[in-house]
Amino acid sequence: MSTLSRAQEILGDLIGFPTISVDSNLQMIDYIKKILEKAGAEVVIHSDETGAKANLWATLGPRVDGGIVLSGHTDVVPVADQDWTSDPFEMVLKDDRLYGRGACDMKGYIACCLALIETLDAESLKRPLHCAFTYDEETACLGAQALVKELRSFPIKPKICVIGEPTGMRVIEGHKGCCEYTTHFTGLEGHGSAPDAGLNAVEYAVKYVSHLLEVREGLKSRAPENGRFDPPWTTLNVGGLHGGVAHNVIPGKAQVEWEFRPVQNADYDYVTSEVKRYVQEALLPQMQERWPDAEIITETLGEVAGLEPMDTNEARDLVLALTGENDVDVVAFATEGGLFQSIGMDVVVCGPGYIAQAHKPDEYVDVSQMAQCLDMLDGIASRLAV
Ligand SMILES: [Zn+2]
Repeated sequence: MSTLSRAQEILGDLIGFPTISVDSNLQMIDYIKKILEKAGAEVVIHSDETGAKANLWATLGPRVDGGIVLSGHTDVVPVADQDWTSDPFEMVLKDDRLYGRGACDMKGYIACCLALIETLDAESLKRPLHCAFTYDEETACLGAQALVKELRSFPIKPKICVIGEPTGMRVIEGHKGCCEYTTHFTGLEGHGSAPDAGLNAVEYAVKYVSHLLEVREGLKSRAPENGRFDPPWTTLNVGGLHGGVAHNVIPGKAQVEWEFRPVQNADYDYVTSEVKRYVQEALLPQMQERWPDAEIITETLGEVAGLEPMDTNEARDLVLALTGENDVDVVAFATEGGLFQSIGMDVVVCGPGYIAQAHKPDEYVDVSQMAQCLDMLDGIASRLAV
């Protein structure tokens, strides 16, 4: 069987595991573990605190620094309310496209990694090939955060990380971060006819939103020179404002859902400190002056680090050489790349399939994209053998 046929076969098996982020990924992790161990890899499983999800870290070849990490997430987005032509958890091959949930995002890449590793002779590697397959990427990169924490204290240091998110095999060296929050306001409920007897949580939520919009304006002037993102500055979005029960009731609770996407780590510090300062020095004291039990609590749903484009990046240069691509780009979607960058690895994003198909009904990956990915992975393995 050719490596490409084997990759397709593995992809069919992986799609069969319904690893929606809220559900367990353990069956899929166990399946991957068996393949990797059979190929001679040392496999370590790190479970989350519930024990229902796990990361997989594998090492093939010698236990030395300077290895290459192939990184992918095992979870997929839900299929509820999506109109699929066929069962999303049963792979269908049609017109040289492989359909199924996760086909391009990103089980196609994981299948290619596994099929390629099956062909390798671990003894021939001079530097290690690692796999990092994580849980909960689609929610808030929780798995990768836990894995990166482990890797910090790891005795051997990999040098390069190739994240196989669907880029159509284009070479991507950067993306914005993504930080999501829900801010909860607690005031005091009362009758609408007596405004001074209550504390209107919605009104304070509105002031908070106004402040977020001011911060948003300030972000434009902070855009780095020659920034390559579109738009080149850090964006901020207010995605929801909820509160209140009836026209004549003073709302005691309100919440604001908001996010921002930093183009540089300094903007992360800027936004979080500006907002915190406003709450602690202005808004909350105003509320508590009228009602001492008033509260403003910000819940962090996820803080995914951006991948900052770097002048020197061995991962980018290697993948450019292997794919024959001339162009390097940045993308609008977030990956686990920034997390791996934060522990000193050179990171590039390059994988089979297109982001346009990800998260959609009838998600697919082209067989030709899988073939290109296998060529790249084969090149990576060859580099590790010399
Ligand atoms: Zn993804």
